[in-house]
This record gives sequence, structure tokens and C-alpha cells, in this order.
Amino acid sequence: MDEFRLVSERVLASGQFILGKDVEQFERALAQYVGVKHAIGVSSGTDALLLALMALGIGEGDEVLCPSFTFFATAGAVARLGARPVFVDASPISYNLNVEDACEKVTPATKAIIPVHLYGQAAEMADVMALAKEFNLKVIEDAAQSLGATYARKRLGSIGDFGAYSFFPTKNLGGFGDAGMLVTDDDALADKARILRVHGSQPKYYHSLIGGNFRIDALQAALLNVKLPHLDGYHQRRRENAQYYIEKLSGLPGVVQSDYSQRDKQISKDGKAPRGARLILPTQCPNRDHIWNQFTVRVVTGAGEGNRRDALRAHLIQHGIGAEIYYPVPLHKQACFKQMAPADCPVCDTLAHEVLSLPIFPELTRSQLDEVVGALLSFLK
Ligand SMILES: *Cc1c(COP(=O)(O)O)cnc(C)c1O
Repeated sequence: MDEFRLVSERVLASGQFILGKDVEQFERALAQYVGVKHAIGVSSGTDALLLALMALGIGEGDEVLCPSFTFFATAGAVARLGARPVFVDASPISYNLNVEDACEKVTPATKAIIPVHLYGQAAEMADVMALAKEFNLKVIEDAAQSLGATYARKRLGSIGDFGAYSFFPTKNLGGFGDAGMLVTDDDALADKARILRVHGSQPKYYHSLIGGNFRIDALQAALLNVKLPHLDGYHQRRRENAQYYIEKLSGLPGVVQSDYSQRDKQISKDGKAPRGARLILPTQCPNRDHIWNQFTVRVVTGAGEGNRRDALRAHLIQHGIGAEIYYPVPLHKQACFKQMAPADCPVCDTLAHEVLSLPIFPELTRSQLDEVVGALLSFLK
């Protein structure tokens, strides 16, 4: 806390409120943490995605593959540039994009793919990169929820052409307002993104490109730079919380955890739960680590019942426990996209009716975790 106050006073006294030395310091620290050459501080995770697409020249007539089961910004950034988001179904095990479905939706107009690393866990990046290579697609990793998580020991965001992070206060590295970061190993793309961040001007007031104002505040960068060395510690506590939930809940009647090695047998293609399952716990997939930005369970509704997920959420709230739905409407069903050709994403439809995220933040105490478990047990019995 004292460190935040000291840093704030220093930035206020400096009079440098946008970009500048504190931003460059934070960019260097983050690039080193992720293992990339370039990090470009921006105004939000949304703007990081937009800037990446702009730097890659995505626009009118282009198609971009992206999951339907994600936060709106992933597809919103594509549509704002006049390109078409092509919605891909989810894996019923990880809830990340289903690369087989992405492959079926490639057309001659497809220019890029945006794998989202949902809830703090990597999408199937080996398959995404193989698909991108086969069809010559650019890859923008939406790592807004997954800064610090890895896939095959590489930090997420460092695998594709670009990686985008968000420091929205609910992310694992939460800021004190809106902020984001774009990373890349490509020198030319980094230069272009830096220029586009300041209205495409280089030098100042001379514009060869049309960019925007995507700048990060110095105060955000300075405060986030104080937090960054603690990030792996926050992850560790989230992991322990997740482990505790799994330990307390697995093995109870009706509670199942999807088994990655049995993924072809255990869960049907449309994502419907196995027989008798009432609550499905999240699964950690192999060859990656999970930073648990969310601990998201699926609450299964039986035939003739009202939505059990909504009932559990109301039950938890009654017990003073916050539980959120990420996300209640898949993007292919959003009103703003209804003029587009209908997309077939049955797993996303199932997930949207069933997912519920339980409290997982690092500061949770053992007795608070027990309260959540107790409330779940009283609901399930
Ligand atoms: C939070 C988030 C974003 C957007 O980040 P903002 O900083 O809120 O603009 C984009 N994609 C995903 C998956 C997110 O979770």
C-alpha cells in the first residue's frame, strides 16, 4: 500500500501523465516476464486487440476466426474494423475454441484467428499454430485472462504474431482503472503498432497511417509495475484455492470432473453432460498451467427443471457469496450480430446455460472457501 502511495506521488510530481519513462519501464518488465522482444502499453485489453488487427491490416472483406464463448471485445474489435468475426464452437472440456470446428470454417477470406485463453488456461495452441500455418493465417492471442499462464512452457501471448493482455481490475494483474498491453516478437509489427497507438503519427503531426488514441496512462503503468513482481504469488494462491474446491467437491454424488484423456468418450459432441452429472468441475488440461482467473463450474439442469445454474447463483447470493456468469449469451447469439449468417456453436449454447464462476481471488481465507463449499453442499443435497 505504501509503495502504491509513493509511486503515485512520484508520478503526480513528475507531471508526465501519459506514456513516458514509467510506461517504458513497465513495458520492459512485462516483455521480460512474458519472454518477448516488444511490449506496447495501451489503454485497455480491447484496444490491444484492435491495435493488433489494425497493425496486421485486417479490414473490410476479411474474416477472422474467433470463439463464440468469450468476452465481447474479442469479436467486437474485428467487427469495428469492418471485418467479419466467424464464430467457432467451444471444446466441452476446456471451454476454449475447438480447432477442428475452426478448420471447417476457414474460407479464402480468412486472414486471422484469435484464440482466447479463457479463465486462465491456454487454448490448444499446437493445433491453432498448425492450422494457421496450413492456411497462412495471422494469430492474435487474446490472453486478457491469462497473463503468466503457459503452454508447452511458453508464456501465453508469446506464441502467436501478437498477444493481448488486459489489466481490468478483475484480471489476475488488475490495475486501478482501464489499461492493457500488446506484445510481439516482430520488429516491424511492433513499430507499426507503436505508431498506430498515437493516431498513426510519425513524427508528431505527420500521419502516414490512420491510428487512434490507444495510449496507457503513466500512473497505471507505474502502479502495475509495483504489482508485477507479485503476480506469480497471486497465481499460486488462486491455484491453492482451486485445488481446495476440487478436493472438497470431487467424489460427491453428482459431481464430476471431465477427464481430458477420456475426452472423446466422456462428453458428447454437443457438450451435454454425462448421465447423472449435476455439477461439473473445471479441468486442467495437460502441457499447460492454469492461473485460475476464474473457477468456473457447470451446473446441469435436468429435464423438466428450471435453470439450476440460476437457482444456484441465487442460493449463493442469499448466503452472501458473489458468483458471476461468464458468459450468459454466446457471441453468435448477440443481437448486434443477428444480421450475420447464423453460426452453429452447440457447445457454446450449452455452456451459456450452465456456467457459474465461484470466488477464487487470492485474498480468500480458508473459512471463506469453506463457506462457499458449505453453500454448494446445501444446494446439492
Ligand atoms: C477482459 C477481456 C478483454 C477486454 O479487456 P478490457 O481491458 O476490459 O478492454 C478482452 N478479451 C477477454 C477474453 C477478456 O476477458
